Amino acid sequence: MEISLAEYAGFCSGVKRAFNIAETSLAEVGIWYSLGPLVHNDLVINFFENKGLLKIEKLADINRFNETNEKNGIIIRSHGVSPDIINSANELGLAIKDATCPLVKRVHDIVVELDNDNYDIVIFGDANHPEVQGILGWCKNKATVIENVEGAKSHAKRKKIGLVSQTTKDEAEFYKVAQSLLPKAKELRVFNTICIATRQRQEAARKLAKEVDLMLVIGDKKSSNTTTLYNECVNTGVKTFLIQTASNIEDRWFEGVSKVGITAGASTPDWIIKEVFDRMTGYDGNQNEETTSQLANNEESFAKLEAEMAETESPSRGDIIKGTVIQVLDDEVMVDVGGKSEGIIPLRELSVNDINSCKEVVSVGDEIEVLVLKWDSDGTILLSKKKVDTNRALDKLEEDFNQGSLINGTIIDVVKGGLLVDVGVVAFLPASHVDVGYVKNLEDYKDKNFDFKIIEFNRNKRRGSQIVVSRKELVEEEKAQLKEEFWQNIEEGQTRQGKVKRIVDYGAFIDLGGYEGLLHVSELDHRRINHPSDVLAEGEDIEVYILAIDREQERVSLSRKALLKSPWENFIENNHEEDIITGTVVRIAPFGAFVELLPGVDGLIHISQLANFHVEKPEDVVSIGEEISIKIISLDLEEKKVGLSLKQVAEDVTENEVQEYLDNQE
Ligand code: SF4
Repeated sequence: MEISLAEYAGFCSGVKRAFNIAETSLAEVGIWYSLGPLVHNDLVINFFENKGLLKIEKLADINRFNETNEKNGIIIRSHGVSPDIINSANELGLAIKDATCPLVKRVHDIVVELDNDNYDIVIFGDANHPEVQGILGWCKNKATVIENVEGAKSHAKRKKIGLVSQTTKDEAEFYKVAQSLLPKAKELRVFNTICIATRQRQEAARKLAKEVDLMLVIGDKKSSNTTTLYNECVNTGVKTFLIQTASNIEDRWFEGVSKVGITAGASTPDWIIKEVFDRMTGYDGNQNEETTSQLANNEESFAKLEAEMAETESPSRGDIIKGTVIQVLDDEVMVDVGGKSEGIIPLRELSVNDINSCKEVVSVGDEIEVLVLKWDSDGTILLSKKKVDTNRALDKLEEDFNQGSLINGTIIDVVKGGLLVDVGVVAFLPASHVDVGYVKNLEDYKDKNFDFKIIEFNRNKRRGSQIVVSRKELVEEEKAQLKEEFWQNIEEGQTRQGKVKRIVDYGAFIDLGGYEGLLHVSELDHRRINHPSDVLAEGEDIEVYILAIDREQERVSLSRKALLKSPWENFIENNHEEDIITGTVVRIAPFGAFVELLPGVDGLIHISQLANFHVEKPEDVVSIGEEISIKIISLDLEEKKVGLSLKQVAEDVTENEVQEYLDNQE
């Protein structure tokens, strides 16, 4: 007979934690009580009762047992309790060891928040389950507990509903409940609080059930997650039996069965699983050579499993171990590191960067490497991801330093004398190494990403920075390369893109990439420019024309004007002979008057074209500054001269008036 164990089965991290807290508490002086069963498994309860743990139903029961002067203490079980019970325990002066599973605590936090935000809270769970009772206490008993989809369908309509789940419920069922609540509220907030251990056990059980002829689910009938596991297996159609111990197994179940799968609820201890496994591997009464060898293999695989468990049970301080993130809160991360305990990474030990919440760095299900910092008295292991990441980063940086490789990093802060750079760890960049030359404002570099060279590496340095980086050398190299490329490719007559670096009274310095050249004010525009800042701004991208190159002196003459249309070009593009245009009289000579037609373009009205009578002096007809209408009578494109007439405008007007009069006579 082939026997297989589900990939995930037995104690979850929450139960392991409760188990450890109970074990360490019982080793302390005093009488210890558990309010209700520590976990939903009678065998575990008996185990602890034999060690002296007293089970009570309510706090008032404690007086019955307290016949000594020894200090009393209470262990809050993994299902958690209402805050009223914790307050009462405090008032009674009891020592409290809180073994509430952090995943259950998360549900408490969520319902508190939902209650504060006036949501109508719905808990998907079993109303009488202690976990649900505890959750109800945290929202002042204002929640509605629904046990199935039918309950969700008949739920009253509400404005805002917040949905959470008992951690051990069936996930598919939870989604159906959420779906049924959708039309019941204008706003529905859904928190999937089903724990990953439950989900993993359900998935592994389903998978295995599809591959075998018979499933054995080990656990206590009172355990919600065990019952869910049993239902999951039954739903696959495979023959399934729920057993508490190996003694419940009946021979007749296995007639005609060749493959058996085993799974176990989250509160089932390893030793019970092993007992069932042992019983099954020694079960087949008609063993032949093949089955004997199969059984030996199974023995071997269970032995391996046990060995692995033992190996991961007690990581020591300083060990680097692998774990799976099972819960992420703002201020801490819970990690399943195998063995009997789970680990906690506080916010400060999660990342080398400044973060506000653990959620910025990890998610549930992530596999991470952590360093064991210490064991807490409750069996929790304090872990650091930051130290592992730091060490890994330092190893790589040391290699880069030895090989002279470039590294990449982001400037994260300005400090006295320089900048701090995130290069996997925090490195120091002295102000004198930020760029070539003096840097006026270091803040300009913040949040920017650059390549760096490590100029100092001292892993053992306790004060100051272990790593000092420089960018100056790289910038110099980059500039030298750009300069070489510039002089190789530059030619007279080219149009180049540049950036205005600096504006001075006599022009502007333009960065052409590898060369910074002066654009003289006289080459800025065809018009007269009072100051370069009238047409340019620092940082602006512009196009410049390469007028001349002096390679010996490494000088390049630039022009912006050469790329602009001249006023004359603009004028002839838009005006033609016979057009009547306006202009301003700017100068009077004995032979006529000059009229400005555009800034930079003047035309002449010859004295003979000023009026249709004899003009002695032009100033008898026009005066400087006067705006007049004139007719273009000639355009000399070669000489760039415009001939104008004031007389013809007057004649045209008269002619038009006469024609209009004659038209009216007719
Ligand atoms: S089943 Fe999940 S929620 Fe419940 S105790 Fe275990 S880890 Fe915690």
